[in-house]
Amino acid sequence: MSAFDPPLLPSSFLERCAAILGPAGIVREPQSIEPYVTDFWRQYRGRAAAVLRPASTAEVAAVVAEAARARVPLVPQSGNTGLVRGGIPDASGRQVVLSLERMTRIREVDPRGEHIVVEAGCVLETVQQKAAEIGRLFPLALGAQGSCRIGGNLATNAGGVAVLRYGMMRDLVLGLEVVLADGRVWDGLKALRKDNTGYDLKQLFIGSEGTLGVITAAALELFPAPKDRQTLWLGVEGPRIALDVFELFREKAGEVISSFELLTGFGVEAACAHLPGVRRPLPEPHPWHLLIELSWSFEDGLSEKLEAVMERALEMGLVRDGTRAESEAQRANMWRIREGQSEATRHMGFIVRSDVTVPIGRIPELVERMAAWVAGNAPAVTLVPFGHVGDGNLHFNFIAPPERVGELAPLLLERLYDEVTALGGSISAEHGIGRMKREALWRRRPALDRELMARIKAAFDPHGILNPGVILDGAEERS
Ligand code: FAD
Ligand code: ZN
Repeated sequence: MSAFDPPLLPSSFLERCAAILGPAGIVREPQSIEPYVTDFWRQYRGRAAAVLRPASTAEVAAVVAEAARARVPLVPQSGNTGLVRGGIPDASGRQVVLSLERMTRIREVDPRGEHIVVEAGCVLETVQQKAAEIGRLFPLALGAQGSCRIGGNLATNAGGVAVLRYGMMRDLVLGLEVVLADGRVWDGLKALRKDNTGYDLKQLFIGSEGTLGVITAAALELFPAPKDRQTLWLGVEGPRIALDVFELFREKAGEVISSFELLTGFGVEAACAHLPGVRRPLPEPHPWHLLIELSWSFEDGLSEKLEAVMERALEMGLVRDGTRAESEAQRANMWRIREGQSEATRHMGFIVRSDVTVPIGRIPELVERMAAWVAGNAPAVTLVPFGHVGDGNLHFNFIAPPERVGELAPLLLERLYDEVTALGGSISAEHGIGRMKREALWRRRPALDRELMARIKAAFDPHGILNPGVILDGAEERS
């Protein structure tokens, strides 16, 4: 079958949706559907019978109710930057994408700057800017922030580069509004920091990847905007030393560290070679690099504190070389290298992506074990781990020869997930499970976990119309 075969849907369903949403609210032409069924890096592609684009909570509720009646599977989508194939449909052509991209209203900015209420289609960067305009910070920050949207950030419980200081998306949410699988609207849109009234229902939807409800709006917590910020780049010998540096910074500057990121020398050189305008922050190459950011709400004084920590690091012989950003341009260059790791290496082969976590002290073992395994078993592959080492979370990218991806990718990922599990870690730290890691998850999850997850799914979505095949498949839901 080609991607452009006629849709396998009751045509009356789409007619009713068209009547609810109007012409701007439904996409049916195959070429226009294409961006909604293709992932961010254009590595995977699904099929959809149509894309629904509601502009309000009432419209979302009305089309979900129609889908429930007609038993049409829906794939909620916000910014389509997800990395585990959770926001694009499967290959069946039966699924319909439900895009929140038109729901971009900022509903409320608290006059005291304590919270902001936004719709699910708001782009993360817009929310950050809105907070900055009133002298506040919305701290969720990640490479895709110009494209990902709040609904997707909530549904994936996104992490990013400031988790160390502010937590994951789950920690930044005060309230939610959600359309349930039968089309009813659950109003949990409170702006309370404390609310111990039984089960915290909103937390179930956060991280549920579109399988329990469609998030339409959220009340998000805002924070004081840091006024003094220091960004530091260090060359280090390896992950073990990187953790010693982390320990020193925790001891001397614990609550002001906002980011602590690790990169390989290979990844840094790739960024300097392939990303326009990017320069290595240090004159010489180093085996590994750290990007560290400290910030606080005092106007100044952080620079002197940082100098004291750096002196100690040098005395202890932890760093090979180091520099700090003296201008916004230098800081941007450092972050471009970090955020551009995938982009810089994408033309070197097929990038097999992953996102794993282990207790932080075991990071070096994980890197060493995987490096040894790749060298011995898949020498054609280059291992490029990088990321949020301060959270015990690394993105293990493997660059594989495109013609051997089918054979190598499952081997590499299985090996990685086995190592991670043996070290007491998890196969997803922040990207989620989607369709990509579903089987790997179910093979490793204890039977009682599987039973409880399937029962939650059945309670919220008894007919399995919300993102079937993501996190759970039909068989697990019925078992
Ligand atoms: P989508 O891709 O549209 O959807 C993601 C999932 O959420 C899907 O399962 C979808 O069905 C579900 N969903 C979407 N909207 C809704 C809704 N309104 N209601 C219910 N379910 C919904 N992630 C991190 O956590 N940390 C990072 O540091 C990070 N860096 C990245 C860097 C790059 C360059 C890229 C491309 C991605 C990165 N990601 C990162 C992954 C991705 O950006 C996040 O998962 C993000 O939260 C997804 O948001 P989105 O709006 O694009 O969601
Ligand atoms: Zn990340």
